Amino acid sequence: MANDWIDISVTLSDGMVHWPGDPPVVVRRIQDLEAGAPANLTHIDMCAHTGTHVDAPLHFVKGGQGVDEMPLDAGIGPCRVVEILDRESVAADDLRPFAPCPGERLLVKTRNSRRRWERETFDPGFVHLRVEAAEFLAERGIRTLGVDYLSVGGYEGDRGETHSVLLQAGVWIIEGLNLGAVMPGEYELVCLPLRLLGADGAPARAAVRTRGRSSP
Ligand SMILES: [Zn+2]
Repeated sequence: MANDWIDISVTLSDGMVHWPGDPPVVVRRIQDLEAGAPANLTHIDMCAHTGTHVDAPLHFVKGGQGVDEMPLDAGIGPCRVVEILDRESVAADDLRPFAPCPGERLLVKTRNSRRRWERETFDPGFVHLRVEAAEFLAERGIRTLGVDYLSVGGYEGDRGETHSVLLQAGVWIIEGLNLGAVMPGEYELVCLPLRLLGADGAPARAAVRTRGRSSP
């Protein structure tokens, strides 16, 4: 069935929401058929961590792997979507009942998927992972973690510890997912960041397809 894939990436668009301090997102047609140009041609200008994107170890680890070195199977293969509602932040105790497995690709759905992407401006109150939750997932040895807003760590009071814990443990991070149309359960994941040489991250297209359902 070709149409059972669910696109879980967000649409990139001119002026879209981005992390505070990052450059604005510019998507501009610099040649236009309507204006007599021989072709339509679009110019893009944005931070590598815009919209749905992958964080490579190099983002927070000196000498770490760049996004061009990401093993393809970190983003392709079985995955599990778990849902954690009614939380300001995700704690280890919220994740423990799901018994994350070594090597697992885990996507954490929160109310971010319902609310945050509808806003045009950055929302500093997004649901994020606490450092101790990152430590728990690192200890469990998961392979890939996906989250549903622009950062796995919080906006305030997080100086990068959440990222560091995961990236130092070799966990690949997908940020900026929209899991609003995805129920908790077992899926196949395809998430491929652009092969940017030596980059700390890159925009990605991501989709899941169901493999059956399970509850914690
Ligand atoms: Zn990032």
